[in-house]
Amino acid sequence: MPDDMLSNSRITAAFREKTPGSAALAKQAGELFPSGITHDARYIEPYGLYIDHAEGPHKWDVDGNRYVDFFGGHGALILGHRHPAVTQAVSEAFGAGTHFGASHPREVLWARAIQRLVPSAERVRFTSSGTEATLMAVRLARAFTGRETLIRFQGHFHGWHDHMASGYSNHFDGSPTPGVLQGVADKAVLLPPNDIAAVRDVLTNNRDIAAVILEPTGSSFGQHPIGAAFVQELRRLTEQHGVLLILDEVVTGFRVSSGGAQAAFGVQPDLSSFAKIVAGGLPGAAVAGRKDILDQLDFAIAQRTGREKIQHPGTFNANPVSAAAGAAALTVIAETDACEHASRTAAALRASLNEVLEAEGLPWAVYGTYSGFHTFLNPRGEKIRPSTFDPTALTLDDLKAQSKALVNKLRLALLVHGVDVNGRIGGFLSATHTETDVASTAEGFRQAIRMLKQEGELPN
Ligand code: PMP
Repeated sequence: MPDDMLSNSRITAAFREKTPGSAALAKQAGELFPSGITHDARYIEPYGLYIDHAEGPHKWDVDGNRYVDFFGGHGALILGHRHPAVTQAVSEAFGAGTHFGASHPREVLWARAIQRLVPSAERVRFTSSGTEATLMAVRLARAFTGRETLIRFQGHFHGWHDHMASGYSNHFDGSPTPGVLQGVADKAVLLPPNDIAAVRDVLTNNRDIAAVILEPTGSSFGQHPIGAAFVQELRRLTEQHGVLLILDEVVTGFRVSSGGAQAAFGVQPDLSSFAKIVAGGLPGAAVAGRKDILDQLDFAIAQRTGREKIQHPGTFNANPVSAAAGAAALTVIAETDACEHASRTAAALRASLNEVLEAEGLPWAVYGTYSGFHTFLNPRGEKIRPSTFDPTALTLDDLKAQSKALVNKLRLALLVHGVDVNGRIGGFLSATHTETDVASTAEGFRQAIRMLKQEGELPN
């Protein structure tokens, strides 16, 4: 980003003035971490917030400023921060000990809580992250089918392991990202989303496809949306060709509906990956699905069938504190309308933000499905109306091509007005966001846009 765009900016000055404590910590962090951060999505210039504590839909930085939080624990917090049932379950589990090097009752409760909501989870294996869950899903699929190649979709993210590193933010031609072997990248066929003919073509002509994996509502929780019909057709085609279907429900699981996207779309996958909400806001994840596929992890079955068992250690698999949080969160989700509530509030937020855009005469659009939202900043100046914008009419390239500098400045301006969104000017809502949060976010959005206009970043 051009230095002067930030250094001569009143928005940056206002942000710096409000956040001296974060600035001081960021200075130290710059000497400790690459880019001073611990997750790529937390990168923002001149520095990001340092948060002290959080409650419900809000978080407070180390300088005492309050923000409406749309990061939502990267999507993990559909119940908001510090849900009482989750907090109580965690403190009880913590009091009992954090690691027993043995099985424990809470892991059984946790897996039962998943099965209650996700009938396709005939068997469950816990991992520590979504990345590990998709890694295991892919290994299971390749071993089960005896085939090596995966079908993936451009822009879809499934964690950062080698089999998934190309093609979600760059390398859309499938070439390997630095450090990934050419041979690994070659075993993924990257297809454009929503193009069922392309999938049919590969399935017909390539006999080496083990599985198709996708984010069921489209990349980045529907920033580039796909519809239920595409997923349903994928199910039909994969079944017809004897190829496994892996739904990566790391974000959509227990969010799109209590049973995830698979319940909402009426699609039964062979395998699913879960993370984020599944562990109630703590680290934890799972691969779940057909018994005959997960049986490859089973000692006795491996011996009986003479197939080599797939190994799966992992120090923190099903750790009791995450298990407690997960079981408690999933129980709340099963017994309340948390998902529907978050989706309703998100729809109200999208409508309110679009009203602001219309009033400010800006050809941007806020869109999204379920409890998410994304902002299209229209870098190529397409003729659109915010309230009737149809993202399915645009390509992945169109939707993702935002000016990094403008996004950064808009985020800073929103932070100045007490709103924390992700790097797509979007985020996740929880069941704790209220009409008041919607109203204050819309007002913050209006003020942020006006600041950008004053700085000449946007036409007046
Ligand atoms: N799959 C999807 C769809 C995700 O959004 C993410 C994380 N954002 C992952 C997998 C990886 O999960 P984790 O960050 O827990 O490794």
